[in-house]
Parts: sequence; C-alpha cells; structure tokens
Amino acid sequence: MEEVFGIDLGTTNSCVAVIGEDGLPVIIKNLDDEFTTPSVVCYDEDSDECYVGKEAKSGMGGAPDQTVAFIKREMSNPNYRREINGKSVSPVEVSALILKKLVDDANERRSYDGLSPVRKAVITVPAYFGAMERELTAQAGQIAGLEVLDLLNEPTAAALNYGTKGLEGKTFMVYDLGGGTFDISIMRMQNGVLTTLSTDGDHKLGGVDWDIALLDFALQACGLDVTYDDIREEKDAAKMLLSAEICKKNLSKNDRATFKFVYKRKPYFKEISRSVFEEITENLVDSTVDMMYHALKIAREPLSPEDIDEIILVGGSSYMPMIKKRIQKEFRCSLRLDMFEPDRAVAKGAALHAARLQGDRSVNVQLGEDMGARSYGTDINTENGVMVQNILLRTSPMIYENTFYFSTSNEGQSMVSISLFENTSVEEYVPIKKTTRIMDKSLDLGGPVPKGTSVVMHVTRNKEGIVHVIGECNGVREEFSVETKGLLEQGEVDALRKFLSEKRV
Ligand code: AMP
Repeated sequence: MEEVFGIDLGTTNSCVAVIGEDGLPVIIKNLDDEFTTPSVVCYDEDSDECYVGKEAKSGMGGAPDQTVAFIKREMSNPNYRREINGKSVSPVEVSALILKKLVDDANERRSYDGLSPVRKAVITVPAYFGAMERELTAQAGQIAGLEVLDLLNEPTAAALNYGTKGLEGKTFMVYDLGGGTFDISIMRMQNGVLTTLSTDGDHKLGGVDWDIALLDFALQACGLDVTYDDIREEKDAAKMLLSAEICKKNLSKNDRATFKFVYKRKPYFKEISRSVFEEITENLVDSTVDMMYHALKIAREPLSPEDIDEIILVGGSSYMPMIKKRIQKEFRCSLRLDMFEPDRAVAKGAALHAARLQGDRSVNVQLGEDMGARSYGTDINTENGVMVQNILLRTSPMIYENTFYFSTSNEGQSMVSISLFENTSVEEYVPIKKTTRIMDKSLDLGGPVPKGTSVVMHVTRNKEGIVHVIGECNGVREEFSVETKGLLEQGEVDALRKFLSEKRV
C-alpha cells in the first residue's frame, strides 16, 4: 500500500510524520537533522531564491524586510499581502513554500533508503479555522505538489496520537500552546467515537509573548529604558528576541540561565532565575487558564473542572515547567506531558489519520462531528446601535441550520438586503465591529411590497463549514453562497505547482 504522511503546518514550526515499521508514527527529520522546521521564509534580495526553515529564521535579524514568519495567522485575512522584491506574496504561497521545504527534505532523506517520495498527506489545521482557511491550506498543499487526503483539526490529531484506547469513556482537554497561538479544546471519546465538545483560544498568544516578557525584563534590568515594542522596528530587535527564546528554553531545563544580547553594538548579560521568569509571565499563564474555564462554560453541554479526566499538553511552549505546574494546581487531573513530545504530537496524529483513511484498521476510532468553528449572523438595529444577531453559533455542530425572520422596513420597497457576518463570538448579539461582513446581496422582490412583509433567511452550514443562505420574501426564493475571497483559481494553483516543482527551497 502506498505510504501516506501527516503534516503539521504550524504557526512557528512544522513537521512531517509517517507510520514506521512497528505501526507507530515517526517524525521524518529535516536536513538539519531536526524534528521540526521553523515556518519562516526568507526571500533573497538579489535573486529568485528563497530559504525556508532554520536558515530563514536565523536570517530574521539581518533581513526582516525579506522575511515572513507567523503566516498562518494571516490565513483568514484575504487582503493580506507582503511586498517583497517588488512582488506581492500571499499567505497561501508562503504556506506552500513551507510545505515544499518539508516535503523536499523528507524526500531527500527517504531517497537514501530507497523509499518512495511524499505524495499523499493529511495536513492539520486549527479547530477554529473556517471554510476559507481550510480551503487555502488545501490549496497550499496542492501547490507544494501534494495530494491532500484530508484536513484534520489539530486537537483531534493530538488526541489520536495520545492513544485513543486510553481515552475511552473520558472527557479531556487538549491544551495547545505553540509559538504564536493558544488553543484549547474539550473532547470526549465514547464507544470509539471522538467528539469535540468545545474549542476556544487566543490566536495572538504564544511562546513569543514569553520571549517578549523576558526581553522587556532584561532590558529594564540592564538599565535600558526601552521595551521591545519601542524598538521592534530596529535592526537589533529580531536577534534580541531570538536570544530571549534561547534563554527561555534554557530555563525549561535549568533553574537559572544567562540572557545575552547585543543592543546598539554593546553586549549585555543578565542572569535570570526560573522563578523570576515565572513571576514575570504569570499573567500569560493566567490568560490560558481563563480560556480553559471559558471553554468549559461554552461547551455543548455544561461542564465543570471535575468533569475533565485528563489534560493533554501539546505545542512547544508546553515544555515550560510553569505550564504543567499551574494546570495541575488548577485541575487536579492527570497530565501525561512527558510521554508525548508536545511539538510532534500533531504531525504524528495526522499520520495516524492518513493511515486510517488508507484502510489501516489499527487506528480504531471514528471521528464525531466537529464544532462550527465560526458564528454567522445578520445585522439588526437595536437600542445600542447596529448589532449582529447570530443565526448559527460556533458552539453548535458543524452541520447545522437555522432560520431568521424579519420584515421589510419601508413602504413599497422592491429589494431586500441579505447580509451575513462572520464572527468568533459565542453570544447571540455581537457589536458589528467585532464581525466581518462576508455576504452583501439583494433579494429582488420583483415589485414593491407593503411595509412589514415578512422575510425569511435560512442559513445552513455543511460538513466542510461552507455556509449557504436562502432568502425568501413575497413568494420569491433565492439561494446565496458566500464568496471565498482570496482563493486561487485552479489554473493559478496548477501554474504555481508547476513553478515550485522545478524549484528547491
Ligand atoms: P510550536 O509552534 O508548537 O512548534 O511551538 C513553538 C514554541 O515553543 C516557540 O515559542 C518555542 O520557543 C517554544 N518552545 C519550544 N521548545 C521549548 C522549550 N524547551 N521550552 C520553552 N519553550 C519552548
């Protein structure tokens, strides 16, 4: 049977896994002999070349204008473009380059052993990704030359790797603290079916915030009256942040570490203890704990901390001892952090899922229905101004439908506006500024209707998270689809795929 692969396309690091001879997933190391590859792309100033991974990350300090990091955060922003070397670069292209690097490195390693190249893969995505980001991730995979078998939610992948047998009958949390994002999911494994009960998170909170806190502390302690925010555009800033990351990682292993950095050509050294580091970043851990409680609150069924049997820690930042310590204090349940390499669990789980899709019966689990990922609603006038009233909530199952009724507001109007707004709120009413308008259509009534004629807006969400709206008024019925802005045409995907196939990144 053809081998299939699992790819964790991460915000900060990515990796690729396959099922080994013993039936267990293994990570395929990159050509730097490392398990994970930084999700960073650096474009050469003078040529068409680009570097991906460690080389690009180490260049971040020297060529910030040529370097793209944290691109996954921009996947949901159809207008995001970076101007580099006079060309506009999109999130899907950068993601494709990262995938290409993973695949090329894996292929080179596999070729030494006469193994077949990476072709079919499952790529993981955050549980909160909506239909558009999922489609863009699949396109990035195609551009990188892959046949994307499926997109799998990251917490589901982590749970698959954790070992579904041990989870039977349990309700558990997947705490995923990466480099740039934090995600929390509550899942349940019952009668061999793995279901997500709740997801929440902060997509601007991750290991880099610990690095910044450490850097700010060191700057003050060294008598420099500036913060990272003040100097972030300066040439030294990126390198200083990398030094902070090294110091942070040392503090995961040792009680003390020396933070060395250079600012305005002057070297600085600051000895930092783990306890001080934990003190200055306590507020960050607090935010993750708050979100754990929030995830309990918004779960499909009311849950309390006592309902949680286990907590799985994933994401590289879970290596920080303060995380395990704090969570154990808060939720007195078992944690199996040390048994599961947090930065590799997601890729391994994706490899298991890929094998499952190929008919491997050793992964005996069914995936229950996902959560809705996003909420959708329409604009209404309230005493507090224009608000969005949600029609489909992200806490409802992915496949869902609901109907919203309103009436025409003007005498003799012959058109009705059908608007849809996307948001991440779990409330019924949301301020409009916290939402994004994704549909702005008109239902042509074919002639004037009296004020107060009833209008029906029927909203459905399918398995892939794609939303359709049916508008009905005065006997007229029309179906509208959400335009997924930022998606590439198949021709563009094919052209980019051909271009990349001839390139080595
Ligand atoms: P991920 O996106 O899951 O690969 O996580 C990357 C983040 O994990 C980065 O912020 C790293 O600095 C952080 N990280 C990786 N290893 C460690 C460690 N041993 N101690 C603390 N943070 C770590």
